[in-house]
Amino acid sequence: MAVDTGYPGRGPIMIPVFPRKVSVAVLASGSSGNCSYIGDQETGVLVDCGISARQIFQRLSEVGLADAPIDAVLVSHEHGDHVQGGRVLADRLRVRAGCSVPFFMTAGTAAGLAAAVRPDGIETVLAGHSFRVGSLEIASLSVPHDTRDPVAWRVRALGWHAGWITDLGRATSLVYDALSMLDIAILEFNHDVDLLLAGTYPWHLKQRIRGNHGHLSNAQASQLLEVAASSSLAHLFLAHLSVENNRPALALAAALGTLRRMGRQGEVEVEVALQEKPTCGLELPARPEG
Ligand SMILES: [Zn+2]
Ligand SMILES: [Zn+2]
Repeated sequence: MAVDTGYPGRGPIMIPVFPRKVSVAVLASGSSGNCSYIGDQETGVLVDCGISARQIFQRLSEVGLADAPIDAVLVSHEHGDHVQGGRVLADRLRVRAGCSVPFFMTAGTAAGLAAAVRPDGIETVLAGHSFRVGSLEIASLSVPHDTRDPVAWRVRALGWHAGWITDLGRATSLVYDALSMLDIAILEFNHDVDLLLAGTYPWHLKQRIRGNHGHLSNAQASQLLEVAASSSLAHLFLAHLSVENNRPALALAAALGTLRRMGRQGEVEVEVALQEKPTCGLELPARPEG
């Protein structure tokens, strides 16, 4: 890129143009706290803020995103493991950006927030609607979960379609449609049904988790994957694993077995997203829009 220096007698200087790339990282995933990042160097968003602001910035640094732009936070629903860092994060982001950063969520989620975690800068959205934050296109879709108006999020960045589909008791046709569009899926593999039933949780909690407004099991997520995965699905993060009722090896075996049955083994990079540390950060070049 040639830029006029503005000084008579001096020629233009050349500024190298680096191709932009998409960065995606799951910073934390599980019933103790969820947070992810997606950005294209021009614009970035956090998806959920269920860990402390301190942990969010520490983990962004660990994956090389310390200085990445954060222009908004997308909140899926009001359960603490998705929003408990909200209030402090809003303050930290205001200082970092020099202005208030919007927290997007449905009106139901906003109404259900505990006062202690409620961030400044809430912008309500209608489930099913899409909007833009800088260069990112963002869409929400309703999911069945035991909160007021929970959503999953889809984000399009530099031609890549990424989606966060967690905290749902069953896969609806909306969810099947959403997964069928994704190149990058953060998909709930919450529990192994046998471990859940044999575990120490009280019966009513087991029923809640297994219910239509609870969480997807490894088997349910695998079936969803088998029916709906896009032919362009390239990266799959197994998310929101229960520490007590699942094992990373079980979730991974379920996902890999499904991909093998689909003839897609090797085509899709699979990683288990964990509670205690971030995933390896993905860095992807811009793709032709499709
Ligand atoms: Zn959750
Ligand atoms: Zn939840």
